[in-house]
Amino acid sequence: MGLLSCHDMKKKADLIIFNANIYAPDSVGKGVNCIAVKKGIIIGIGTDADIRSRYWAPKNVNAKGAFVFPGFTDAHSHFTGLALGLRYADLTQAHSFDEVIAILQGYRKLHPEGWIVGRGWDQNNWPGKAFPDNKLLNKVFPGIPVILTRVDGHAVLASAAAIKSAGIVLPVKKGEALIQNGEFTGIFLEEMADRLRSSIPLPTVSQITDLLVTATRLCHEAGLTAVTDAGLNKSEILLIDSLQKAGKITLRIDAWLSPTKENFDYFMKDTIYHTPFLRVGAVKMYADGALGSRGACLLNPYLDEPDNHGILVTSPDALAVVCELAYKNGFQINTHAIGDSAVRMVLHEYSKFLKPGDDRRWRIEHAQVVNENDFALFAKYHIIPSVQATHATSDMDWAGQRIGYARLKNAYAYNRLLQQNGWLPNGTDFPVEGIEPIKTFYAAVARKDADGEPEDGFMMDNALSRIDALKSMTIWAAKSCFEEKRRGSVEVGKVADFTVLDTDIINAPERKILMSKVLYTIVDGKIVYKAR
Ligand SMILES: [Zn+2]
Repeated sequence: MGLLSCHDMKKKADLIIFNANIYAPDSVGKGVNCIAVKKGIIIGIGTDADIRSRYWAPKNVNAKGAFVFPGFTDAHSHFTGLALGLRYADLTQAHSFDEVIAILQGYRKLHPEGWIVGRGWDQNNWPGKAFPDNKLLNKVFPGIPVILTRVDGHAVLASAAAIKSAGIVLPVKKGEALIQNGEFTGIFLEEMADRLRSSIPLPTVSQITDLLVTATRLCHEAGLTAVTDAGLNKSEILLIDSLQKAGKITLRIDAWLSPTKENFDYFMKDTIYHTPFLRVGAVKMYADGALGSRGACLLNPYLDEPDNHGILVTSPDALAVVCELAYKNGFQINTHAIGDSAVRMVLHEYSKFLKPGDDRRWRIEHAQVVNENDFALFAKYHIIPSVQATHATSDMDWAGQRIGYARLKNAYAYNRLLQQNGWLPNGTDFPVEGIEPIKTFYAAVARKDADGEPEDGFMMDNALSRIDALKSMTIWAAKSCFEEKRRGSVEVGKVADFTVLDTDIINAPERKILMSKVLYTIVDGKIVYKAR
């Protein structure tokens, strides 16, 4: 009998990552620097010597001292929206309406046929901060349908040709469009904005597939291993499922149903639809609009528009109907609520269904402005506040003008909300914000924008600690969709999803956080992104 080789005595793994600094739950600073992975699952964590004496693998990654975190997860995002938005003109960087026009002219050169569709304008970034109108659009692009969605998605500027193509007859009702100085602007709000958008000619399935694959690549480049798709229809979910099964989408996705009969009939079964990469166990609802376009529903009027409280887009009764279905079928219900009146309404409707001891994890998305008396209701009914740290730093320059200091002190109150249940998920709401989880982390801990402003941070009482911020985009994000037993931390038995950074974001000086670079993104034990 020959001697057994070293390999024969060791167990075979598929991948070993060595010479790393690993953020496993209890390993910080304990010299844990090696992970063995098999069939997408973590099978060993320990020192290099320990793991490499027990396992060998055909693929070995020398992390060269880099930092391995649990895969970063976006707990509230619109993945399909990101993908479809890739075919639109990006208006987020425009600093005036003239710049918007210039971007659209450049876009027209690349896309000479069909509609001009843009996304991301924000008049708060322009001189004077006034809402635009469609006069210049009609002049520069005569006869061409142009639809430009505001950064928050709740308002749309449309050219005369687009309004005609959508079959909208003017004048429309007050509240459906923005009237300035008695004049129609071409800006439509909420449902009318949706109606305009729904008249844009749809891309083909093969175009959508390409866009979803590109969006997957962008997410991996940013270090994301899991995202959310907040509000989809059956056909969109089935397409994602098939592309995941074909290995074309290598992101884990928590898909939320839009509340339609077709979606409920198909997906609300005795068991929740679940694959290793997809979960369909929540319904997305909207209670109100957004603060930027004064659509968020407030208990007291806007400070800068005293006859406006904003609007509820779903009545309490309509929300209750969906709550009942969700409760009965074991689904989560995740409702967008930004204004304090909308947040209160949702808390109260949820509380009619939730019973003591329930672990339903029904969520309030954004929970941006919360009345002093309502914070405790999150804890009382175990309702999950789902926050987006970059919303605070995107809105901080003008939010005070909208709602005044007394309400601002209870707005973007992430740390106070965290104290309610002891955990909360964090995300971006992309494509409303950029997709980068590093920016979420930085905004959560430093409460500063990507330019490092303001110097002392925005309302620092509500900053998260670095460990809490990391948890909010890993284990708590997983928990927010009932996935914490299989992902969200680096532990034996969990899936091998890692984000590998060149920087220790838990201990590095604050100014270094934003400079950190994603070296590898690993999903299910496979390297899906590697920095050049
Ligand atoms: Zn959203």
